[in-house]
Amino acid sequence: MKIRVGAATDTGRVREHNEDSYLAAAPLFAVADGMGGHQGGEVASRVALETIDQLGADDEVALPQAVREANRAVLDRAARDRGLAGMGTTLTALVLKDNGIDLAHVGDSRAYLLRDGELQQLTEDHTLVHRMVLEGKLSEDEAKIHPHRSILTRALGVESSVEVDGVALQVRPGDRVLLCSDGLTSMVPDPEILEILASESDPQKASEELVRAANEAGGQDNVTVMILDFDEGEGIEGAAPGLSAAPEPAPQPRRPRWARLTLWLLVAIAVVGAGLVGTRLYLDRQWFVGVHEERVALYRGIPTQVASIELFTLVEETELPADEATRLAPWTELRDGITAGSESEAREIIDQIALDLRAEERSPPG
Ligand code: CA
Repeated sequence: MKIRVGAATDTGRVREHNEDSYLAAAPLFAVADGMGGHQGGEVASRVALETIDQLGADDEVALPQAVREANRAVLDRAARDRGLAGMGTTLTALVLKDNGIDLAHVGDSRAYLLRDGELQQLTEDHTLVHRMVLEGKLSEDEAKIHPHRSILTRALGVESSVEVDGVALQVRPGDRVLLCSDGLTSMVPDPEILEILASESDPQKASEELVRAANEAGGQDNVTVMILDFDEGEGIEGAAPGLSAAPEPAPQPRRPRWARLTLWLLVAIAVVGAGLVGTRLYLDRQWFVGVHEERVALYRGIPTQVASIELFTLVEETELPADEATRLAPWTELRDGITAGSESEAREIIDQIALDLRAEERSPPG
């Protein structure tokens, strides 16, 4: 089979950094959509792709196994650098086989097949809204516009093990396969993606056209597109091989305590204030400090609800009175939940609230 490849990636019109990466390293092709503050997203997507790139050269390693290794690599990298804690990435990868492709997929990036003028989604989104659609709690149309549609149920870098979806597909001459991040699919509806794929035969130009369409629709997210065209013949053409990624940022030193507390507060205020729109969070890995029965309490999850589902569980209630804590300047947002990157960070916030309450008791009235 002869294969022509096109690829394009863009920061979009709203974000400051491009946290997406793609890999063109025949027979391996992939897109990854990273997330996490302080360059974490960029690092996560790049580390994931570097890992599968290295393992992809080894015929003995199957693609799903390489993706599980990439998960471990992202976790290891985050463990070595606290500034990167909480980072994660999607990964949608394919490897060329004789007359076919094997796909491996985690997250909400997507693979599509264009065949005989019809566009078929090959991957399933690992998102909360998709799960709710499967459970009959949301319609497809409601899911497309849901404010929490980007909350993932699966990603690399979250847990020590990850479930990887695999799809094997026989390809025919004339087939076109699209890999893309959600920056395309959240901005451009499938019929328009189909129209562009069907009207532009050059895979590089079609990739650029799709990126342009996402930006014209608002470009609210990083957008990455790869296209593989299958034809009669032999060989591979197009798409500069390699990894699209930003250079490695220097590891960040641990911030002083006050700076971290301020940061958490800013994150908490931003997250609550933005109503979580466009924010990607991992439920099982999120912690926050809130209020339970008028006491300061530790929660796992995020301080919000989707439809009628609470995205948090109470872990521990303290003796600290919530009413007095919220009177102190740093903790006025307590009732909305103050988010933390880990359980220990959440407990440090509680310790700080306890210290502040004690200091307040000691200070003279007025
Ligand atoms: Ca994205």
